[in-house]
Amino acid sequence: MADVQLTGITKTFGAVTVIPDLNLSVPDGSFTVLVGPSGCGKSTLLRMIAGLESPTAGGIRIGGTDVTDAEPSDRGISMVFQSYALYPHMTVAQNIDFGLRLAKVPAAERAARVSEAARILSLEAYLDRKPGQLSGGQRQRVAIGRSIVRHPEVFLFDEPLSNLDAALRTQMRVELAQLHQSIGATMIYVTHDQVEAMTLADQIVVMKDGHIEQVGAPMELYDRPASEFVASFIGSPK
Ligand code: ADP
Ligand code: MG
Repeated sequence: MADVQLTGITKTFGAVTVIPDLNLSVPDGSFTVLVGPSGCGKSTLLRMIAGLESPTAGGIRIGGTDVTDAEPSDRGISMVFQSYALYPHMTVAQNIDFGLRLAKVPAAERAARVSEAARILSLEAYLDRKPGQLSGGQRQRVAIGRSIVRHPEVFLFDEPLSNLDAALRTQMRVELAQLHQSIGATMIYVTHDQVEAMTLADQIVVMKDGHIEQVGAPMELYDRPASEFVASFIGSPK
């Protein structure tokens, strides 16, 4: 079980409270998508779940365990960023393997996990290449591969497709949906892209100025937006 429960989460930078008292329940195995305007606190929220920022107040539970003060590596999560830095001098296989090697996972287990990730992401033919010899979409798959091999219970994605062109984004969207189906982990996914949100999510969280405007299934938000603001994000596709 790896649901994520945020209770009374507050985040203050200096004198500015960017997230005041936020509560959110992310069901185990769900694909939960966070949407909202730039600066509303989406990345800050993900970073707190990942343990890269500490909440000023409030608690975070993952799979029933209080991880509010836990190290990032002890949370059973893995984060995929918008700008994923691959190691240019390493092969795809070495890039995917790197975190496992750091974590001192035994070699046979590492090899098995790299093969599994390569199969899931259709990277088998590229394992010996360097990142410079890959397309943007392939590089992003390698970045996701680095997460998959850790076998996290929760994946966090911060606008992972926003540097890709439209055709690749569409393709990666399909692949992310398949990934979610095949590994069944909980996914929390930040995007600006309404189509991404509507097609990937079982639960959409609409944020504004550090608070949650509405949470619901895509069609629920589409049919019954709770506010003009939600409607402008979800209910009236351009
Ligand atoms: P989003 O990801 O939704 O675009 P962010 O979470 O990046 O928003 O930022 C939310 C707010 O917090 C913004 O006003 C941003 O300027 C501020 N902020 C984020 N990180 C810091 C930081 N380390 N120091 C000060 N302010 C920050
Ligand atoms: Mg952000």
